[in-house]
Amino acid sequence: MRRGLIARIDLRAARSNLKHISKAAGGRHVIAVVKADAYGHGAVELSRAFLEAGAQTLAVAFVSEAVRLREAGITSPMLVLFDRSDIKSFFDLDLTPVIHDMNTAEEFSRAAQHRKKSIKVHVKVDTGMGRMGLEDPADIAKIAVLPGLELAGLMSHLSDADLADPECSLHQVEKFQKSIAGFTIKSKKILRHISNSAAVFRCPEAHMDAVRPGLSLYGISPFEDEPDGVEALRPVLSVSARILTIRRIPKGGTISYGRTYTAERDMLAAVLATGYADGYTRALSNRSHVIVRGRKVPVTGRVCMDLTMADVTGVEGVSESDEAVLLGSAGSEAITAWELARGAGTIPYEILTSLGTGAMRVYQ
Ligand SMILES: *Cc1c(COP(=O)(O)O)cnc(C)c1O
Repeated sequence: MRRGLIARIDLRAARSNLKHISKAAGGRHVIAVVKADAYGHGAVELSRAFLEAGAQTLAVAFVSEAVRLREAGITSPMLVLFDRSDIKSFFDLDLTPVIHDMNTAEEFSRAAQHRKKSIKVHVKVDTGMGRMGLEDPADIAKIAVLPGLELAGLMSHLSDADLADPECSLHQVEKFQKSIAGFTIKSKKILRHISNSAAVFRCPEAHMDAVRPGLSLYGISPFEDEPDGVEALRPVLSVSARILTIRRIPKGGTISYGRTYTAERDMLAAVLATGYADGYTRALSNRSHVIVRGRKVPVTGRVCMDLTMADVTGVEGVSESDEAVLLGSAGSEAITAWELARGAGTIPYEILTSLGTGAMRVYQ
C-alpha cells in the first residue's frame, strides 16, 4: 500500500555507525538489534548492512522476525530476545533463544533431546528491569547442565536506558557480574552482554564480551542531553511527505479540526500527504516543523489521519511538486528524531518505529 510518505534510508550511514560503535566498544562482538523491523528502517536491508560492516550476531524480539530474515537468506547467528512461541523454528532455522525462566529451559531441553540435537541458548538474568529474566541466579547452574542445551551466552538488560542515573547502571552491572561469577571461569566461550547503546558510549564497565546496540546503529543519540549525536553517528532515516495541494487561507481563517490554528495574516498552507495513520502522531499538532525548499516552517492546526498542514507563506517558489521533510536534513536545516520526540512527548525510539513503517522505502 502506497501512502504519502517517502522514507530514504542511508545504508552507508548504517555501516559507518556500526563501525563507530564497534570501535567505541573496543572491538568487541556486536549483537546488532534489528527488532521492530530494524526500528522502522527495514530489517532485511539493515541486517545485511550491519553484517557487512562487521556485526557478528543479530537480535530480534519475535520468532516471526527471525523467520523473515532467514527467508531472505541471512545466515548469521540470530538471538530471539523475547519470544518462544514456535520452538520448532528455533531448531529448523538455527535460532538462539534467550531463556528467561526454568520452564522454558526445560521445554527447550526436552525438544532438543527429542530431536537428538543440541541448541545454543543465552540465559537472561533480571538485575533490576523487572520485566524478563531469571530472578534467582542459582537457576543458571541448573540450566547449564540440562541435556541438549549449550550455554552460549549470559545477559541482562539495563533499566535506565539513557544512563540518566549512572550509579543505577553500575549497580546493575555489578549485580550481573555477581550472578554469573561462577560461569565465566568455567567456560570462556560464554558471551556475557548487558550494554545497550547508552552503555556503549558512557559505561565502559558494561562492555564485557559483547554489546547490544539498537538506537545508535540508526544514528540517533541515546542521550537527551546530547541530542545532536554522539561521536560520528549519522542518522540513517529521513522521511518526507508529498505536498498534495497548496491553499490560500485569508487572515482570520482557521485550519483543521477543532480550529486550533487561526491565520494572523493572509497565508499559504501546504497540505501534506501524511497524518497520524503514518505515525506522524497527533501530539505534534501545532508543535512541529517541516522543511520545504530548505526553509523550516511550522505545522499548523491538528494533524489529521492522512493529512497535515504547514505554513509555507514566504517559501520562495513553493509548488505542489515539492516535498516536505518531516525528519532529516535539507540544506542547512534539520529536524532530528529528538526534536520530534520532544514535540510529541515521547522518545526517538517511538518516532522511528512509527514513522518509518508505512512509508515507501528507498534505500540509498
Ligand atoms: C532493544 C534492546 C536493546 C537495544 O537498546 P538500545 O537502547 O536501542 O541500544 C538491547 N537489548 C535488549 C534486550 C533490547 O530489548
